[in-house]
Amino acid sequence: MFKKNLNFNKNPDNLIPAIIQDATTKTVLMLGYMNEEAYQQTILTQKVTFFSRTKDRLWTKGEESGNFLNLVSIDADCDNDTLLIQVHPTGSVCHTGADTCWKQPNKADYGFLSNLENTIQLRKENGLAETSYIASLFAKGINKIAQKVGEEAIEMVIEAKDSNDALFLNESADLLFHYLVLLNAKGFELNDVVKILNDRS
Ligand code: AMP
Ligand code: ZN
Ligand code: ZN
Ligand code: ZN
Repeated sequence: MFKKNLNFNKNPDNLIPAIIQDATTKTVLMLGYMNEEAYQQTILTQKVTFFSRTKDRLWTKGEESGNFLNLVSIDADCDNDTLLIQVHPTGSVCHTGADTCWKQPNKADYGFLSNLENTIQLRKENGLAETSYIASLFAKGINKIAQKVGEEAIEMVIEAKDSNDALFLNESADLLFHYLVLLNAKGFELNDVVKILNDRS
């Protein structure tokens, strides 16, 4: 982690940009600048310290708000003039009170599964039961959705005992899909479950 060959002298003000990324969600949280002293202080205290061009002094993020950026890792780029710093933020990062300094919230992206969650939410809000299977599930209510998950689970178990991989995978897909619908119907999302699993590890 200790980088001795960082090129602080490339810019006339001896500052290098530091991209701050959430180590868990991978969301980019903010951008700050560091001189060598800020960099050393960050490593020493394990809390991100910048050189603030506005304040014209070292600035430990969180010094007033208490919302510190706890250091996880520091990585220099290919030519040692930009830092990528992964952190665990202790609260909101932007001085506006938002999660991040950009519009996107600090939320994990589970790729395909997150896209599927979005589709489920959209169909729940706007879908017609006549044309959308998801909307028809929501129209039947939560008990029916839960029952459907149970059926798909049993079907998957039956196929797991047989040796037909295609049928097993198909029932797995059915289960995963209906499970995400049930989570949504209960007012939760995948991330709520991931948090619990993370806490266990
Ligand atoms: P903090 O470091 O969170 O205690 O905030 C102290 C001051 O630094 C705030 O009043 C803002 O002026 C400024 N500040 C805090 N967070 C940010 C940020 N993400 N980007 C720019 N300025 C910030
Ligand atoms: Zn570079
Ligand atoms: Zn901001
Ligand atoms: Zn099935």
